[in-house]
Amino acid sequence: MTAPRRPSLRRLARPALAAALAAVMLPAAPAQAVPLAKTLFGAESRGSDQSPAPIGSYAEGCLAGAVPLPVSGPGWETVRLSRNRYWAHPEGFSFLTRLGAAAKAAGWPGVLVGDVSQPRGGPMVDGHSSHQVGLDLDIFLKPAPAGGMSDSAREGAGSVSVVTRDKRGVTADWTPTHLQVLRAAAEDPAVARIFVNAAIKAELCRSAPAPRDWLRKVRPWWGHDAHFHVRLACPAGAASCENQAPPPPGDGCDASLDWWFSDEALNPPPPKGPVVRKRDVMTMADLPPACQGVLNAD
Ligand SMILES: [Zn+2]
Repeated sequence: MTAPRRPSLRRLARPALAAALAAVMLPAAPAQAVPLAKTLFGAESRGSDQSPAPIGSYAEGCLAGAVPLPVSGPGWETVRLSRNRYWAHPEGFSFLTRLGAAAKAAGWPGVLVGDVSQPRGGPMVDGHSSHQVGLDLDIFLKPAPAGGMSDSAREGAGSVSVVTRDKRGVTADWTPTHLQVLRAAAEDPAVARIFVNAAIKAELCRSAPAPRDWLRKVRPWWGHDAHFHVRLACPAGAASCENQAPPPPGDGCDASLDWWFSDEALNPPPPKGPVVRKRDVMTMADLPPACQGVLNAD
């Protein structure tokens, strides 16, 4: 059987030409009848007109009634605004106000705030797997500049890794003020956990003076060498919010930290076969039912 000859474009009438072009330019639709949750949440441009409520868990949830963080606050600057990931639960706003004051007291003009959540939270089309309920905030490991920021400086703001190339120690960019800012964040009662690179955790273990209880909240994770990730606990009364189990007892400066410097952790073997990330398959059915209401709200 032979395929019918394709008519030359020149011979087609205009509507037929448009249809032919559309047929040529549209990729074949995959057999994906149900839209992905990341596509739906990634398309939202503003928060929902609802009472603020984190719904679900940090990596499987959404955020009702998010507030946009101000561009500039007392002791903080929000950066990379075009990403539209500066939406938070109001508790995030309160936390930043406290952290900004602590950073200033420690000698920084303020902190730089990177990604928080999308306008209605939920999974993101790229980047983070958590940050879904407005309670995860990325803070650069670099002070805000004194005297505010221009629009272009804000948009182009980058951080700098404070971890050496062999991933075993910190660079000359690490300062005692970094420790003070991290301690202030960890001692904040609203904070459940903080993720940093293992080399940073090891430096804190080496140099933090007593009392060191706050070190328990600072957990090693891959990456996180140019920013730290603050995870706030579910706020009081947030009935639909799921906390993560608390970190294990102790300061974490033990054999569990040593593992992070093993060859297995530092140089993991490449994955066998393609990696399918959870957010790349999540549909609304994988999220709490109330998240559909967040999408549907004004
Ligand atoms: Zn993060």
